[in-house]
Amino acid sequence: MNHTLSHDLFVRAQTLLPGGVNSPVRAFKSVGGEPFFAQRAEGAYLIDVDGNRYVDYIGSWGPMIAGHAHPQVLDAVAQVMRDGLSFGVPNALEVTMAETLTRLVPSCEMVRMVNSGTEATLSAIRLARGATGRNKIVKFEGCYHGHGDSFLVKAGSGMLTLGVPDSPGVPKALADLTLTLPYNDFDAATQLFELAGADIAGVIVEPIVGNANCILPRDGYLQHLRDLCTRYGALLIFDEVMTGFRVALGGAQQRYGITPDLSTFGKIIGGGMPVGAYGGRRDLMQQIAPSGPIYQAGTLSGNPVAMAAGLATLALIQAPGFYEKLERRTHQLCDGLEDAAREAGVAITTNRSCAMFGLFFTDRNVETFAEATACDVGAFRRFFHAMLRRGVYLAPSAYEAGFLSSMHGDIEISHTIEASREAFREAR
Ligand code: PLP
Repeated sequence: MNHTLSHDLFVRAQTLLPGGVNSPVRAFKSVGGEPFFAQRAEGAYLIDVDGNRYVDYIGSWGPMIAGHAHPQVLDAVAQVMRDGLSFGVPNALEVTMAETLTRLVPSCEMVRMVNSGTEATLSAIRLARGATGRNKIVKFEGCYHGHGDSFLVKAGSGMLTLGVPDSPGVPKALADLTLTLPYNDFDAATQLFELAGADIAGVIVEPIVGNANCILPRDGYLQHLRDLCTRYGALLIFDEVMTGFRVALGGAQQRYGITPDLSTFGKIIGGGMPVGAYGGRRDLMQQIAPSGPIYQAGTLSGNPVAMAAGLATLALIQAPGFYEKLERRTHQLCDGLEDAAREAGVAITTNRSCAMFGLFFTDRNVETFAEATACDVGAFRRFFHAMLRRGVYLAPSAYEAGFLSSMHGDIEISHTIEASREAFREAR
């Protein structure tokens, strides 16, 4: 594959952008080598500036569940943008978006639109603190909730990829208010609440940990967190920025039958535009300004073009059988990868939940953060590059989940499995 134009751009970018990128994991730091620069994208494919095509299992880190450049999404955007890009006064699409989100996720009786997942989670913990009058929040090792100060403690995603447990620049006094727990450990959660329950404003969790690859909750674990929060008067916050509208139409909360007090969203609800949202119980959401005293605002929040892209995507995913088909495709892919690895004599395991999956280089089941980080990262790196050379783009980190879109069909999945046969051999 020729990467001349990408290389030239990366050289220029590195003198102007930290690490040459606008978000750390894009820089290929943990897998080595240089990122490619996208020219365009269509369906399940990314096409780079040198004309190379890749089956894309990242989908812009989650939003593109209906595939890239879907005509219905592009048309909706084109139509709305003719009327102007931003108004700074309410517009009808914001109301339609709120109606759609509250209908699809019943635990959200009210919502507030923001511009990113980070803004959503920051706002949700401010609300949890304001509503309970308590200061401590609980998060889980390996979970990533965006780059807000309170979350950069034992975080996943780029923090994990770069091997940084905590970020400089976060005041210790603030970090001390973030208590961390090992995900899927029932007793550790019980003990923490016994010790500090009266001070805990909220527990924020990725119900499926997609930022430490893909770790599924053990049976009853999310219910255990729900029960602890209820017993101690803390709020349960599901960070569904990744799992929302991906693991089921109603997100992980629908899949596992749990009702959180607050939820955060992003990615899919913007259809590829910068969007986030948080929502939850009416009595809590009414405490947000201007109906209540807890302040949160945004110049571009509810932007009409972003709402149009999000609503068009949310319309597509409500088609009958949409999630059943995605789930079948994910099994087809993961079963195929497991078979190919076995034939190559490489130990892997996969975790899956509808349209997201994790591929771990290990012979064990992965149910905890410790197990996820004990996998063979070197083998992943070799596999990543071997797949990239064959036109398959996986997340450039052993700690990021993979995503399918409704445009990943037999052709793309067969190509991926075929490519993996040799790639697993090269990864040994
Ligand atoms: N929460 C989760 C679960 C995420 O995966 C992410 C981003 O990947 C965020 C929050 C932050 O979202 P954003 O990058 O839009 O700020």
